[in-house]
Amino acid sequence: MTIWERFRYETAAQGKITALDLELTKRCNLSCAHCYKLRGPQMMDGSLFHRVLDQARELGIFMIGFNGGEPLSHPQFLPFARRVLEEGIFLTLVTNGTLITEQMVHELSAWKGIRFQVSLYGHDPASFSALTGAPGSLWEKALHSLELIRGAGFHLEVILLAVDQEIAHIGGFMASLKNQGFDTWVNPILFPREDGDETPLKFALSNENYLKLSQLEDYNPIPRCEGNCQACGAGVSSLSVDVFGNIVPCLLIRESLGKIPNTSLADALGGETLKNFIKKNSIPPQCVECDYYPHCVRCPGASVFTTGLLTGISGETCRMARLRQIFHSSHHPDHH
Ligand code: SF4
Ligand code: SF4
Repeated sequence: MTIWERFRYETAAQGKITALDLELTKRCNLSCAHCYKLRGPQMMDGSLFHRVLDQARELGIFMIGFNGGEPLSHPQFLPFARRVLEEGIFLTLVTNGTLITEQMVHELSAWKGIRFQVSLYGHDPASFSALTGAPGSLWEKALHSLELIRGAGFHLEVILLAVDQEIAHIGGFMASLKNQGFDTWVNPILFPREDGDETPLKFALSNENYLKLSQLEDYNPIPRCEGNCQACGAGVSSLSVDVFGNIVPCLLIRESLGKIPNTSLADALGGETLKNFIKKNSIPPQCVECDYYPHCVRCPGASVFTTGLLTGISGETCRMARLRQIFHSSHHPDHH
């Protein structure tokens, strides 16, 4: 468990909101067909951002995530990042790594409380271009960014997108990144788009390829829910604010709890809307009873996207859980 995971785990156990995700922009410099986000020109304005930061500081928020779109495409990314770090708040950057510059890393290097989560698409320039619709030279740039981030001593996680066309290369590519000392993991999870368009699911791994990928996934079966069957930390240990100022439980669950400036984060936290949401966001009985539960990465946001319901059952989530269980029982025959 990394210090970041431990932090999230312990604060979730205490039931205190400590993390805040901000959708800085809907803009992105790539156009990935597998992405669930709808891109657009919208950007969080400076006055909204600083108001959110004032409120976050008062609430004792410990970690802020910059999300998007591509958060580094916000023209005020650097001043925003500085403000977070000057408040003594940890910063997580969810990025495709292609807009990171030497100058940017240099300016942030005075602080160490930054975690980069870089999604790397493809194993070479041609596969990057096929997946993102952007020039292959950006793949080289993203790879160079990894060196810059590591050189500055920031925490770095590299996430490789696992899709059918990458399956022959992903194991070798992951091993090479790990050999270079990069903390690397694979992500096979795809959602329909925010408007319900199912195009991203066309990239989902076949059963056969998912079983191959399971060898690369590093996970332990999760314990069954006993007593506390809260589905996830949305609204319990973390909150999000979208580009317009809507306070939502998670950027994947756009149920507005109020809008800044009319509603503050503190108002939203004390409000009935959030209490009702938390009550609703429980693990459905069908999942509590399910044989695949310990192998299932159930996300209520994904359920909303695929079924329209927080407690809906997503066929794609079930397929992955079933395949993981098959893989796990053939490799750990003593466990279930
Ligand atoms: S809805 Fe999904 S992504 Fe959001 S906090 Fe819950 S599990 Fe995580
Ligand atoms: S496999 Fe499907 S039914 Fe079973 S726990 Fe996961 S989402 Fe629920």
